[in-house]
Amino acid sequence: MIEQNIKIILSKMPPDIQVVAAAKSRGVDEIRQAVSAGIKVIGENYVKEALDKFEIIGREVEWHLIGHLQKNKVKKAVKIFDMIETLDCLDLAESLNAECRKIDKIMPVLIEVNSASEPQKYGLLNEEVESFLAKVDGLKNLKFMGLMTMGPFTDDREVLRDCFKKTKYLFEKVKLDRGDLMDWKYLSMGMSSSYDTAIEQGANIVRIGTAIFGPRTYKKKCSYED
Ligand SMILES: *Cc1c(COP(=O)(O)O)cnc(C)c1O
Repeated sequence: MIEQNIKIILSKMPPDIQVVAAAKSRGVDEIRQAVSAGIKVIGENYVKEALDKFEIIGREVEWHLIGHLQKNKVKKAVKIFDMIETLDCLDLAESLNAECRKIDKIMPVLIEVNSASEPQKYGLLNEEVESFLAKVDGLKNLKFMGLMTMGPFTDDREVLRDCFKKTKYLFEKVKLDRGDLMDWKYLSMGMSSSYDTAIEQGANIVRIGTAIFGPRTYKKKCSYED
C-alpha cells in the first residue's frame, strides 16, 4: 500500500519538489518501504523517536526534523538530522550553532513561521523573520535556507491558500533583501490534505504522512496536534 501511494504521489509531483515522508509513529519497516519506493527524505517530530530509527536505518535516507525542538535535545538532534525545519527562536539558534560547532557540522535550517498568527502555534510571526535573520548572522555553523510553515488548521482552501501565499511572499522578500548573503531556496509547506495548494503557491518541500502511510493508528502528541 505504501509503495502504491508513493508511486501515485510522485507521478503527479512537479519536478524539483522535495517530498518529505512525515514518519512520526511509523516503524522501521514502513520507512524502508517508503525509501524503496523512491522517498529520499524522512521527516521526524521527536528526537528520541528519530534516534531509534536512525540507529537502524542510518544514512541511506536524509532526515529532517519537522517537530518542535527542545533545547535539551539539541545535542542529539545535530548528530542525526540533515536539516532542521523548525528553528523558531534565537535561543535555539544559538544552542544549535554551538553544538554544531563542536562536531564541526554546518546545519541547514529553515525558519518556522506561524503564518496564520495562531496563539498556540510555534514559529516566528512573518513580520519578525527579517530582524531575526539579522540577529543570527554571526552563527556560522547554521545555514539559513528558507522557511517552513504548518499553516492553519482548516479545510477552507481559501484560508490555506492565502496563508501559503503570504509565506511565499515573505520568502521572496527575504530572497530579494538578503539572498546574496545566503543560499535561500527552500519553502516547506503543505501536508497530505494541502500539498497541492501549497505547491500551487510555490512550495518546493512538502511533508506528507497520512497520504503515504495511511491513517496514524496511535496519536502521539506533536507540535501541530497540541
Ligand atoms: C505529521 C506532520 C505532517 C504530515 O501530516 P499528514 O497530515 O499526516 O500528511 C507534516 N508536517 C508536520 C510538521 C507534521 O508533524
